Amino acid sequence: MHRIIVKSILNKTKQRDPWFLDDYTLNPYSGCYFNCLYCYIRGSKYGINMAEKLSMKSNAVELLEKQLAIRARKKQYGIIVLSSVTDPYLQMEESELLTRQLLEVILHYRFPVHIITKSNLVTRDFDVLKRIDTEAILPEDLQSKLTHKAFVTFSFSTIDDHVARIFEPGAPSPSLRLDALAQACEHGLHSGVSLMPLLPYISDSGANLELLFQTFQTIGASYIFPATLALYGSDPADNRALVMRAIEKHYPNLIQKYQRLFGADGKLPDYYRQAFTDKAKSLCLQYGLRDSLFC
Ligand code: SF4
Repeated sequence: MHRIIVKSILNKTKQRDPWFLDDYTLNPYSGCYFNCLYCYIRGSKYGINMAEKLSMKSNAVELLEKQLAIRARKKQYGIIVLSSVTDPYLQMEESELLTRQLLEVILHYRFPVHIITKSNLVTRDFDVLKRIDTEAILPEDLQSKLTHKAFVTFSFSTIDDHVARIFEPGAPSPSLRLDALAQACEHGLHSGVSLMPLLPYISDSGANLELLFQTFQTIGASYIFPATLALYGSDPADNRALVMRAIEKHYPNLIQKYQRLFGADGKLPDYYRQAFTDKAKSLCLQYGLRDSLFC
């Protein structure tokens, strides 16, 4: 793994995503070892590194100190999302403790935080996250809408370990993630699931969606963000080529359906996305799960 020096670590977003409520994003690492075939950063400037040239931002802690001190002085409180173009709990985090140190700085300056991860390693930092949940200051416009200040979202495209090994070869298994989600709920952390992206005909069938929602509800998740798959690019390393190759190899009976579904623009047809959105909405109601962080 490389160590790099960066000029800035805290990125102010132009607009909050309605699901993730990101006022700021923070990426301790550059690239991602989990190597998900469907990863949307493939084909973008962030995807160039992925696993091969994974880098750790070695001056991240001192930079965050400086940047948050200024923001706190100006009372520019906002939710910090870790992370938008990597996972904050890659394997090396276990020994490097970079994300943990960044969380300690965030706690010190009392900023709210939203962790998005595929790793069970986040359980190690529940102590810091619980303190952030108690001590952070929400931005004014969210104070009446949120009851928590620390959020832990686990990302899944499937809960089947075998399917995950094909599409997320470097990530901790869904079984480990489910166990970590259960622990987050037991610790009283506001936790839920990002179902992004579900894989057509593999993890998004009606029966499979029922199983997913039932599983997450039983564990105690508070919310679910469901989304379909989108394929990008024409390069062999882009997610379009990688997903199609995996379908051809592991699900040859689906390749024609995928080719038809994703057409020229890599997007699922409107009718498919609408049916998916309607189904997900009705399942949220049925299982009493929210589709946002709001209370
Ligand atoms: S964990 Fe996220 S950032 Fe990493 S490869 Fe998978 S989708 Fe991309």
